[in-house]
Amino acid sequence: MNIRENVPISELTTMRLGGNARYVIEITNEDEVEPAYAFADDKELPVYVLGSGSNIIGRDGGFDGVILVNKIMGMGVYDEERDGTIELFANSGELLDDFVAYSVARGWHGIEALSAIPGTVGAAPVQNVGAYGQDIAQSLVLVRAYDQLLEEFVDIPVYDMDLSYRHSIFNSGDKVGRYFITKVVVRLNHDKMEPPFYNSLQAWLDEHGVTEYTPEMIRHAVCEIRAAKLPDPAMIASSGSFFKNVYLTSDEEIEAAKARGIPVWDGGKIPSGWLIEHAGLKGQVFHGMRVSDKASLVLINESARDYADLAAAREEIIRIVREKFGYTLEQEPMELGE
Ligand SMILES: Cc1cc2nc3c(=O)[nH]c(=O)nc-3n(C[C@H](O)[C@H](O)[C@H](O)COP(=O)(O)OP(=O)(O)OC[C@H]3O[C@@H](n4cnc5c(N)ncnc54)[C@H](O)[C@@H]3O)c2cc1C
Repeated sequence: MNIRENVPISELTTMRLGGNARYVIEITNEDEVEPAYAFADDKELPVYVLGSGSNIIGRDGGFDGVILVNKIMGMGVYDEERDGTIELFANSGELLDDFVAYSVARGWHGIEALSAIPGTVGAAPVQNVGAYGQDIAQSLVLVRAYDQLLEEFVDIPVYDMDLSYRHSIFNSGDKVGRYFITKVVVRLNHDKMEPPFYNSLQAWLDEHGVTEYTPEMIRHAVCEIRAAKLPDPAMIASSGSFFKNVYLTSDEEIEAAKARGIPVWDGGKIPSGWLIEHAGLKGQVFHGMRVSDKASLVLINESARDYADLAAAREEIIRIVREKFGYTLEQEPMELGE
């Protein structure tokens, strides 16, 4: 086991904030998982599982525990092709985009719109990653995971994960932190995505005269759209979308929003990027954090000194949007440390 001591969380996360973690262990193989938990047990320290750190914000006080950085690689066929469907697996340390590329190259449909989402395969079920009309829930079959409570590996079928918009048993409720996901299995098919597509994807396809919606073409379109507006985490510090979209639940709320000229999609979703932009915040800088001028939902860490700066920026943005529209934005990325 490769064990490092006193490692800045800022080095492990794409927002590049956060104090030190007491220990960091890189896990490259399923066999290393149990010994790593035993190491933490011996020292009576909590464990935190990390992928690429693209949806986690480190806090200034650091983490007095053991971070397991997931690098378990490998992918392939889980269950052979049958009646036009196939089950593919990826071990959880693989990048999600590499898994998407692998499936698309073989002509399979189901996760092509998840192209270019940063992060590892193992994190995909945690917040049910989604983009351009697809989410991982639509294809997921099961995950294999180390269960810290039972101290054994278990298979968790998709119907036990309670997946919905940015939500699962892995990020909400009493099972948070209990599992280290080591393998993800998806079921894919040869059907194609059909129009109407998500607005920006439809616009790109129309503009380029595309009428053949192969997985390769959708992947190409999504990669182009994302590259034009979203920051590359290798170059620019951010966690992607910083706020969740607002979901309205009653017809009255939906009608009231529409009457004020606020866009409401998919029967209740208000794009929070629209609210931020129409509150006049696009491109503005608060405490070293810039509201991206290409995608208002994205906060970029230009010169924040610490988590406290980010928290101050977040509160100001939430306050301004609430005063203007009456909706309270909620942060999407989770937080790590004290
Ligand atoms: C520029 C940018 C664009 C983005 N665009 C999108 C988008 O379009 N759609 C979208 O849904 N998200 C998007 N994100 C968010 C992010 O890419 C996803 O949440 C991704 O799944 C995070 O993967 P990760 O490996 O970096 O996870 P991390 O940030 O390392 O971890 C995220 C959470 O998952 C848990 N976790 C990670 N791995 C495991 C594991 N193996 N077992 C158990 N728990 C685990 C962690 O404990 C943590 O709670 C974007 C982020 C950025 C920076």
